[in-house]
Parts: sequence; structure tokens; C-alpha cells
Amino acid sequence: MLADNLKLVQKQIADAVARREHKDWLTGGEVTLVAVTKNHPPEVITEALALGVRNIGENRVQEAKHKQEALGKQGTWHLIGHLQSNKARQAVALFDLIESVDSEHLLAAVNKEAERIGKVQDILLQLNIAHEEQKSGLGREDYLALLPRLAAYKNVRLRGLMVIAQKCDDVEETRPVFAAGYRAFARLKEQRPEVDILSMGMSGDYIIAVEEGANCVRVGTALFGQRDYSLKF
Ligand SMILES: *Cc1c(COP(=O)(O)O)cnc(C)c1O
Repeated sequence: MLADNLKLVQKQIADAVARREHKDWLTGGEVTLVAVTKNHPPEVITEALALGVRNIGENRVQEAKHKQEALGKQGTWHLIGHLQSNKARQAVALFDLIESVDSEHLLAAVNKEAERIGKVQDILLQLNIAHEEQKSGLGREDYLALLPRLAAYKNVRLRGLMVIAQKCDDVEETRPVFAAGYRAFARLKEQRPEVDILSMGMSGDYIIAVEEGANCVRVGTALFGQRDYSLKF
């Protein structure tokens, strides 16, 4: 079943890339599929890796730690959920990319822990573009104020941006949010040509996100089915 779901998601992504009108997208033609395994048992990670999936997404440090201890760490791990500063040490130890940096306070904590172990931690800044009902993510002013201050944090490397769209009855309503995410990425890339990741789109809206320029999507349910919230890690 996972094999079939994976094929379908990969085909939908490839078709969405093909539909992009202009050929000069700053995010390129390759889309990274992050398989979001939160609230699924560790075995699904083994299964996904066996099928060629390379990127694993988890939203809690404790759960990721449990799974890495059970399986060993293979692949590239993305932290996609809100991170509390007091868990920065664990997050830096477990994750290759922290997608959900949403405050300077957290950025400073991540930098400090990375420095402590001699790591340069790859991060994305999470932008709050959708506003409504969404607590996480940097607002426009905080984001713009933070950019020139990044140079002070020598043990983090900004790789790009992460955006979560609001839940809507009509998925087309997410399109302007993703388009705004792409514009923000394009402006960032003017200043910092090295940024290369625009993470937008989940099971319900990844096709639209890719059409609007995402080159990283975070897909759980469409690959693994419903999450089991009774699992304890
Ligand atoms: C859970 C989660 C996803 C995956 O959600 P699905 O709808 O199951 O694909 C993607 N991004 C973030 C930030 C998440 O927390």
C-alpha cells in the first residue's frame, strides 16, 4: 500500500512540476519529498527507506529520538513541528534540517547548542503567511528584522523558508499563500543566492504548493494513512 501511495504522490509531484508555466523557477525542477512519519510506528520508516525515500519528517524531538534509537539514523531527518528552546539541544543532535525556526529566541538557542557540539545546523525560517488561526511562524516584520541579524549566529546556516497554509474547505484558497511564499523566497534569494529550499505543501495541498514553486513537500497521510494518536513514544 505504501508503495502504491508513494508512486501516486511522486507522479502527482512530477505532473505538477510539468505544469509550472515558466521554466525559470528559482526553486528548480527537483522536488524533495519529506515522508512525515509522526504518530506512526518506527517500522514505517524502515519500509519507506526500503522504497527509496530519503527524507523523514517528524514533529517532536522525543518521538524522533525514540525512532532513531530503535532503528539507527538513516536518511535525512527534518524537524517540521514547533520547537521549544529548551529542546534545542536534542533537536540539534537529531535533525539534519530544522524547518520550523519561528523566533530569534529559538534561533539563538539552536545556534548555541550547535556551537557546543561543533555543528553548523541547517535551518529554514517558518513564515506565517496564512495568518488566521495559525500561531507558529514569523510575521513579516519579525522576519525582515531577523534577516540582517542572522550573520551573528555562526552555527546556523539558513537554507530557505517553510510555509504552512491554512486549512480551507476549498484547497484553491491555499494558492495565494503558496504564491506569497514563493515571492518571499525569490526576494530572499536575491540577497542570499545560496538559499535552496522552499518547503510548502502537505497531503491536502502539496500539488498546488508545487505548482506555485515549492521544491520540498511534507507528506504524511497521503503516504501512510491516518495517524494513530494513541501511540506513545
Ligand atoms: C503533520 C505535518 C505535515 C504532514 O501532514 P499530512 O496532512 O499528514 O500530510 C506536514 N507539515 C507539518 C508542519 C506537519 O506538522
